Amino acid sequence: CGIVGYVGWRPARDVLLGGLRRLEYRGYDSAGVATVTPDSTSVAVHRAAGPLDNLLAVVADAPEDSEDVARTGMGHTRWATHGAPTDRNAHPHRDAAGRVAVIHNGIIENFAALRGELEDAGVELASETDSEVAAHLVARALDAEPALGLTAAVRQVVNRLEGAFTLVFTHADRPDEIVAARRSSPLVVGVGDGETFVASDVAAFIDHTRDAVELGQDQIVTLTREGAVVTDFHGDLAPTRPFHVDWDI
Ligand code: GLU
Repeated sequence: CGIVGYVGWRPARDVLLGGLRRLEYRGYDSAGVATVTPDSTSVAVHRAAGPLDNLLAVVADAPEDSEDVARTGMGHTRWATHGAPTDRNAHPHRDAAGRVAVIHNGIIENFAALRGELEDAGVELASETDSEVAAHLVARALDAEPALGLTAAVRQVVNRLEGAFTLVFTHADRPDEIVAARRSSPLVVGVGDGETFVASDVAAFIDHTRDAVELGQDQIVTLTREGAVVTDFHGDLAPTRPFHVDWDI
């Protein structure tokens, strides 16, 4: 339903929770955040069914995963399509080792076949969602070919997915990077000074920057503090459509 991702210098969790608050008008049944720090061995995830206040209560008791507060992360509000609106089905979802995390808007139509393939390979799925397969598939692509890098691994996986989706990934080994992909589901990048955002709606980052780039169909974006690199599902650089948000939200 609602998506926000951040790479920069501010405490990520504050940016993400603020962004999710801005996206609340879309309606949702659960919410979650993931953060990565340079010393993390897994992506820290907090989730809660119900209103955003439930998630706030959960994170209030949780350290921001190390003394060096996370500057990278992503947040999601879910509108369940596959799997009941429970804590366990709330996004982000992770692979078994907790190193790859994903948030997803939309529906992965061929998720049943992909779940079957993962289960045959001995992977235990932790949720009933169509979304979780994406985290396991990216983790497996990187296990098979560690030099691939997160962007290329995501590219490999999204080429196997059918349906409409926005997917955003973080990796424990990549504390300064977020990779997002979109097909038939909106995604917009916000470019600030030493910080970069990605969201389903500019409302999520409007408090921080008004310089935005709209992603086109079947595009992948790699975010770092320095900005965003947009490629297509074949790996070629893609034309971008920068715009300035000059309206009030
Ligand atoms: N299909 C996914 C789920 O049910 C994502 C739903 C959404 O767009 O929030 O978990």
